[in-house]
Amino acid sequence: MPRKLLKILFASSEVAPYAKTGGLGDVAGSLPKALAELGHDVRIVLPKYKQIAEGDYVTDYPVEMDHHLETGILRQTKLKGRNYQVPVYFIDNYKYFYRDGIYGFADEAERYNFFSKALLGMLPRIDFQPHLIHCNDWQTALIPLFLKTKYAEDPFYQRIATLFTIHNLQYQGVFNKKTLKLIGLGDEFFTLERLEFYGKINFMKAGLLYADIINTVSKKYALEIQTSEYGERLDGLLRKRAQDLYGILNGIDYEEFNPETDPYIYKNYNIETIDLKRENKYALQKETGLPVGDTPLIGIVTRLVEQKGLDLIGNIFGEIMDTGIQFILLGSGADSYQKLFAEFKIKYPQQAAINLGFNPELAKKIYAGVDMFLMPSRFEPCGLAQLISLRYGTIPIVRATGGLVDTVQDYDEKKGEGNGFSFKVYEPKALLEAIKRALTIYLEKPEQWRRLMVNGMKADYSWERSAGQYAQLYDKAIHKHLATLYRVVG
Ligand code: ADP
Repeated sequence: MPRKLLKILFASSEVAPYAKTGGLGDVAGSLPKALAELGHDVRIVLPKYKQIAEGDYVTDYPVEMDHHLETGILRQTKLKGRNYQVPVYFIDNYKYFYRDGIYGFADEAERYNFFSKALLGMLPRIDFQPHLIHCNDWQTALIPLFLKTKYAEDPFYQRIATLFTIHNLQYQGVFNKKTLKLIGLGDEFFTLERLEFYGKINFMKAGLLYADIINTVSKKYALEIQTSEYGERLDGLLRKRAQDLYGILNGIDYEEFNPETDPYIYKNYNIETIDLKRENKYALQKETGLPVGDTPLIGIVTRLVEQKGLDLIGNIFGEIMDTGIQFILLGSGADSYQKLFAEFKIKYPQQAAINLGFNPELAKKIYAGVDMFLMPSRFEPCGLAQLISLRYGTIPIVRATGGLVDTVQDYDEKKGEGNGFSFKVYEPKALLEAIKRALTIYLEKPEQWRRLMVNGMKADYSWERSAGQYAQLYDKAIHKHLATLYRVVG
């Protein structure tokens, strides 16, 4: 019997290639395409930020805010997949989204409250009644709450189920109490069982409480966030919902990240022509001002935030340099880290290339050009950078946490198994030891190193498998939602 196909609305605050600050953007730009390949009617919706140039006008409509109306302007485009095109809706409003940058404004609560309301308001106007809305991170966490409260009796919305995906539990959208009124909720929501969170209100909590099913982006992180160490003060709630909490590993877009066809790297290659990877290294060294040659080259592409373990690197930077290797960083974020790495560049001009900024093209040149990729994260929900590295035959050196545990197996020299190097304890010494282990294999056992590269390139971290798992989870959420609904109604 053919599968019943689903109508899914994928709601995200960022979607590559239109707007991206990190992994969420990649996921939102690639998972819907993989779902469309499985035959589902999946559509994407995101805010129309100033930087997004495209989008044909569809309609505009009033959006009810606290005591006033705003205008939602709906625009549309299509995201090209392998065989299918995915409709993409942009919700436009000059006041909220016509600004430089995506996040970091004083009125974030209001912006994403508007986005969530405008998104729900859009559905009858485009005559799209999804079986499920897939919400992602705190920016879309109010949607399940609105559906279960304001829209609970509305025949158009009543049957719509929700899945809430945690891409990073650290960002929760915590605002002061008066935000409740802004969202249109009464004081009865200011309780521990509802949105109250240490004297404030927490958007993420709304998603975790009201979504039919919750998931996060790796099995390991799904377990970790139920502990006080990784739970970001929401572990109690997550433990309560453990029966509804799943882990599905992210994939990467195997067409976008493909060393054989990538237009941005210097020299294309595949498993058979893996030796050509070296030319990417030489060209990258040249472009970034490092001496050109066969010196081992370690790279990192990252948001410059505490999560990413940059303090570990900073702590042992001198010792890393003492090994004689070259180091290249591409990163944007906190000033303190920018300063730290800028100083290393001055101190080690022959060994350290520091590139500050957000630059997807240079990122790909780094994935293709370096020998090893560093990811000593304090925590990591899934991590895409290590998957991109593997795809480009670059060996990841990671801390064993979250999705890095599920995707990087520490190399066992005796058995010849593994696809990278990992260390457990969050300490500079442990990182240094892992780097040195990798360097020894790289310098002394080139045949083994080559096998590692091939293993990485052969591994399949495309979306195919995970997209199927999402479809199953959607089914589960829809069944659960309808069962509860009919129990209540009937
Ligand atoms: P996170 O989502 O926590 O930032 P991930 O590893 O899941 O981490 O995803 C990061 C994505 O963002 C990868 O595609 C990575 O290449 C990209 N990225 C991070 N920083 C930069 C940067 N400065 N320039 C270009 N791309 C970046």
